[in-house]
Amino acid sequence: MAVSDHVDLATFIEGVNKRNPGQPEFVQAVTEVAEDIFDFIQDKEAYHKAQILRRIAEPDRVISFRVCWEDDNGNIRVQRAWRVQNNNAIGPYKGGIRFHPTVTESVLKFLAFEQTFKNALTGLPMGGGKGGSNFNPKGKSDNEVMRFCQSLMIELYRHIGADVDVPAGDIGVGGREIGYMFGQYKRITNTFEGVLTGKGLEYGGSLIRTEATGYGATYFLQNMLKTQGKDIDGHTVVISGSGNVATHAAEKCHQLGGKVLTLSDSEGFIYDPEGMTQAKIDWVKELKTKRRGRISEYAKEFKGSEFHAGKTPWGVKCDLALPCATQNELLGPDADVLLKNGCIAVSEGANMPTNLDGVHKFKAAGILYAPGKAANAGGVAVSGLEMSQNSARISWKEEELQRLLQDIMSGIHERCAEYGGRKGSKVIDYVRGANIAGFKKVADAMLAYGVV
Ligand code: NDP
Repeated sequence: MAVSDHVDLATFIEGVNKRNPGQPEFVQAVTEVAEDIFDFIQDKEAYHKAQILRRIAEPDRVISFRVCWEDDNGNIRVQRAWRVQNNNAIGPYKGGIRFHPTVTESVLKFLAFEQTFKNALTGLPMGGGKGGSNFNPKGKSDNEVMRFCQSLMIELYRHIGADVDVPAGDIGVGGREIGYMFGQYKRITNTFEGVLTGKGLEYGGSLIRTEATGYGATYFLQNMLKTQGKDIDGHTVVISGSGNVATHAAEKCHQLGGKVLTLSDSEGFIYDPEGMTQAKIDWVKELKTKRRGRISEYAKEFKGSEFHAGKTPWGVKCDLALPCATQNELLGPDADVLLKNGCIAVSEGANMPTNLDGVHKFKAAGILYAPGKAANAGGVAVSGLEMSQNSARISWKEEELQRLLQDIMSGIHERCAEYGGRKGSKVIDYVRGANIAGFKKVADAMLAYGVV
């Protein structure tokens, strides 16, 4: 018997803590997963012997580099950037690139770790990675963003490839940034390959990739509600964020009959007691992607709505909640308020938006609670479909992709339900289900490879 991995959970986490000093987000993500995996592998010696969890919680590699660029005033600026390649047991590394001043190695390691389980859950052959930089695109001109993206790619190109590592967008990285990075990769390597996803439709992008994460999180919510004979129709919905994920979650909730009351950004949230119409959601999309404005402008544009500066939207009474902004945006006390106000389901569009205290509260209350790695997997799933279309040099029709997205989200729901059931309880523990189903697929592939 290999005793070395037969440590208890606390000792394991202590080791993770010691090996990753000053990386609280990474330790938090590993802790959340380890809580369930320890229970699952208790009687499974093969996983212990091969030290599988210990190996998944150690990225294959972390590439760290400097990015220099010149701003419009001729100043030389220096940024930090990383690519974390966490695990490629079941396919090429895959995960987004984030541009935000809060990006650190810890944040990207947590995201790459989560991505490994999420990608496995989709059923598609994708490993887990994530990248990004502390560059802040807010307030920068198009030319500045272009120069930064090109400079970043001059280093990144040597670490990625259509069969090696396929980045995509994330916070601060949308169609514009993907275009600049893809153009630079093509120029340096003189190859036209599906090395990035989230591309424009003219150069290898897939239909519905933009919508996929927000739509997918809403489909997951729908799947959860269905287990209790309920639906989104007629329910009030509170959403945080106002970017890609939030606006498309709002759109799909509205289409399915939900009354969307809020959106937010890092400066505060707007409350619209009338509920958002498609025209209002389109206005927000234009505000955020074209004019690059702030959500506070919504309250000036639409009478009867209010802007609450410096606050998150969790105090607004609702039936359904979709945190779609960023990590640790919904804390234990926010979970208390949502529960007190009668919220019956939470579907995470963002990655790890709920902190551990909040997660424990949702689980203890037995509400329908879907972690990001399950609920927001629609985005990477359609990215996987973009990779398939690129490899085959074809483009699928929208109806086909819409159907595939819904099927994939239902499949993820089924996998979570399979492993998330607890004896004597009717409530599905989606966190446990997602962790175990994702882990099992990656772990079994790793076992097949031996010690590599
Ligand atoms: P966007 O950049 O399009 O939008 C991000 C939104 O979140 C903005 O409204 C932004 O407000 C807000 N936000 C960002 N940081 C903070 C913060 N520290 N505090 C409060 N609000 C903040 O990003 P996406 O919509 O693409 O991503 C949102 C989340 O979804 C992230 O967690 C991402 O990892 C996750 N995700 C995204 C996928 C995708 O396909 N895009 C796929 C799977 C997960 P502001 O403008 O003020 O910064």
